Amino acid sequence: IATVSCVTEQTLVLIKPDGVQRGLVGEVIARIERKGLRLAALELRDVTVEVASEHYAEHAERPFYGSLLEFITSGPVVAAVVEGPRAISAFRQLAGGTDPVEKATPGTIRGDFALETQFNIVHGSDSPESAAREIALWFPSLNS
Ligand code: ADP
Ligand code: MG
Repeated sequence: IATVSCVTEQTLVLIKPDGVQRGLVGEVIARIERKGLRLAALELRDVTVEVASEHYAEHAERPFYGSLLEFITSGPVVAAVVEGPRAISAFRQLAGGTDPVEKATPGTIRGDFALETQFNIVHGSDSPESAAREIALWFPSLNS
């Protein structure tokens, strides 16, 4: 019988500057909590170019990289460590696909609140390796 592993995971969530500016912090956190995920860390913070470029290093060669860094450093973000069983996939499911119109479906954060791929409200780590790297980058004092 196949079983689904339910080991507790941690994932790095960002409410991007568009989400903060549009007053969607409470809405996003409510959805995280309603799903049953827990907040292990939560902070409003300004983003340096150093942290932003490290965070999005995998996209350094993409045409949208410069504009993405400009966007992510344009105002405060809410950074959070979210935890629970399969938290990485669970939050990606809450967020919806990257393109908020073509990929994210209604009912997801991006599907409900965004229209443009760059301005898609939230970030969530995409794998255990990304989560470990991103949590260490954003919350270096947390050791889990
Ligand atoms: P995700 O955030 O869903 O993991 P990616 O890692 O592919 O998506 O991209 C990181 C972020 O870069 C996206 O959330 C979005 O803000 C931005 N982005 C991705 N693709 C594009 C694009 N084609 N044009 C503009 N911005 C983009
Ligand atoms: Mg990604």
